[in-house]
Amino acid sequence: MFKKRIVINNKKDLNRFYNNLKYYRSILFVFTKFYSDNKEIETFITALNIKNRFKRIRYCYDAAIKQINDFEGGCNFCKFDKNGVCRNGLKNGCCRYCFHVGDKGCTSENLSCKLFYCSKVYNKHKIVKFDDLKILRCLSFRCRTIIRHDFFTKKEDVLMDLYIGSILILFVRYFYRFIKQEIIKLFRKIKKKKK
Ligand code: SF4
Ligand code: SF4
Repeated sequence: MFKKRIVINNKKDLNRFYNNLKYYRSILFVFTKFYSDNKEIETFITALNIKNRFKRIRYCYDAAIKQINDFEGGCNFCKFDKNGVCRNGLKNGCCRYCFHVGDKGCTSENLSCKLFYCSKVYNKHKIVKFDDLKILRCLSFRCRTIIRHDFFTKKEDVLMDLYIGSILILFVRYFYRFIKQEIIKLFRKIKKKKK
């Protein structure tokens, strides 16, 4: 295993490191162990040292979710009232058509959904935007494109979409999940009516 030390002395070094992530995450550095004394890039160093693709995807995904959760600190930007109506006047807000919404909100951890806010929210609050999640630069461009679009999906399925890494297969899987969910919903309705 080769070793590569990353030295960060100033903002310029940090920006250069972020720009170089596209090389560091590539096959060129698959036999390289990164290390650095800088705490600010600790998460990135850990991600780059995970050479198993699926494990790296999961790590970066969880790190991005943590960054959003830490920033929002449990804030209810959507201002859901006690009846589950959001600031935009929608019962269950953006999740109203989703299969994964439970009595207490989302039953999964979907990064795409966590990044979405309507103008009623982002006009009033500073929110985490996609480009703020620098850790996602440890993933490929295709993975980042998938993350921007994989709404209404449970976490494990998103991770598999990212692992497959194909936009075309993403849409096929998305369509399959949609049909499956509609059939389950239909069966549930029929069952309810029979009671
Ligand atoms: S983003 Fe807007 S529409 Fe969606 S739940 Fe929040 S307030 Fe409602
Ligand atoms: S997956 Fe997305 S749309 Fe579905 S319940 Fe969770 S946050 Fe809402």
